[in-house]
Amino acid sequence: MKPFDVYPLFEIELVKSRDCWIWDKDGKKYLDFYGGHAVISIGHTHPHYVKKIKQQLENIAFYSNSVKIRQQEELSQKLGELSGYNDYDLFLCNSGAEANENALKLSSFHNGRKKIIAFEKSFHGRTSLAVAATNDASIQAPVNNLHEIAFLPLNNEAALAKALTNDVCAVIIEGIQGVAGIQTPSDDFLKLIRKKCDETGTLLILDEVQSGYGRTGMFFAHQYANIRPDMITIAKGMGNGFPVAGLLIAPHIKAKYGMLGTTFGGGYLACAAAIAVLDVIKEEKLIGNAANMGSYLVEKIKKMDGVKEVRGKGLMIGVEMHFNTSALRNDLVFKHQIFTGSASNKNTVRLLPPLTITKAEADHFLKGFTPALKPYL
Ligand code: PLP
Repeated sequence: MKPFDVYPLFEIELVKSRDCWIWDKDGKKYLDFYGGHAVISIGHTHPHYVKKIKQQLENIAFYSNSVKIRQQEELSQKLGELSGYNDYDLFLCNSGAEANENALKLSSFHNGRKKIIAFEKSFHGRTSLAVAATNDASIQAPVNNLHEIAFLPLNNEAALAKALTNDVCAVIIEGIQGVAGIQTPSDDFLKLIRKKCDETGTLLILDEVQSGYGRTGMFFAHQYANIRPDMITIAKGMGNGFPVAGLLIAPHIKAKYGMLGTTFGGGYLACAAAIAVLDVIKEEKLIGNAANMGSYLVEKIKKMDGVKEVRGKGLMIGVEMHFNTSALRNDLVFKHQIFTGSASNKNTVRLLPPLTITKAEADHFLKGFTPALKPYL
């Protein structure tokens, strides 16, 4: 047997990681400005994280959700406190797609409706309804096209006002669109969605899978707009690489046995990882660091030749060039030993480093990025 060939791969075998750095089997060291797709929040192999998971592994690694798992309560309490959503409930699952699938399903249970509003260039995952709400026909199989989804242009208030009627089940929107190449909904647009959802009995789901957990300089990106969604989905940075995801649910949405469920979601190890992440984010003040380091990088990158636009907030940065950046990203890896991310907008490089980066590491990136651009100018 061999792995199913669904990804284009870099021919690199990684064997070690520490904080913002990763090493391949030949001992070559790379700066990680990608975080394995925005997943590494507190830095690779953080000692507190390793200790917490190891300790939990030695006590009990798994039991199903048929018993009380104290760690789920500790995680809910710490997440509520740090995110400002103390009064919400938490449902735990395993991936971003699953979190969105459950949020959409729960919305439909709640108001009995079927229609979903999503946005152009959105990405919400690859399960049935999540991929249907993803604006990319190339990753949807015929079986995914059974849902009623309307894709609206981002930040178009007139289109929203027209489409958001009394029969819409939910609006799902990313805090900042990631896969699209870092596109931000305006504060006014988010406020309008909130208002229209309230008027029509529609639920508002904020997909913070990529933009959440402090990455943008706030715990959640939508908090810049000062709105409160009905549900917030989380994954990626939540477990710093351990598969864990979740769904924050507003108090007016009531739970009923059987509505949602999972075998692995909220297991002891996932909770240990997620608790360790929150401890470190708080202790090391990583949200502030993301804001500061993000501003520093954006300021410097904006002044570089060949850069068309720099978008984003905190350490969720899109650098759009005047050319297709796939060769540039290859050069960054193989000539300058820096990992960055791609986007569906091929001219955009995504920067999604761990929230722990220092000024020295930001400078190391800038020192590699400047000469890497030269051949393309
Ligand atoms: N939502 C957003 C905004 C994402 O960026 C992603 C993954 O990139 C997902 C959902 C899906 O997450 P997962 O790959 O964990 O299913």
